[in-house]
Amino acid sequence: MLDREFFLGFIKIHILYHASKEPIFGVEITEELGRHGYNLSPGTLYPVLHRLEKAGYLESTSEVVNGRMRKYYETTGEGKHALEESKKRIKELVTEVLEDK
Ligand SMILES: [Zn+2]
Repeated sequence: MLDREFFLGFIKIHILYHASKEPIFGVEITEELGRHGYNLSPGTLYPVLHRLEKAGYLESTSEVVNGRMRKYYETTGEGKHALEESKKRIKELVTEVLEDK
């Protein structure tokens, strides 16, 4: 579905944004995106995280929490650069689409 493709782009930007503030893990991301109205299954989220990591936008570290391995993701310098580029485009998009000039 086409709208799914749009949302995946938005989701990636949310992830890069939040992971640039502090390291985040999967469940946290799912909850955060849920607050924004995205209902994300692990089957959707994890491939997105992997792609962002493979592209060099995120890096992960594993930590044992309550006896279980937890993977934290953080935005890399390259990811921050991509985020800044996205911000410019978001601004432009919002100006055009929402303000309807
Ligand atoms: Zn967000």
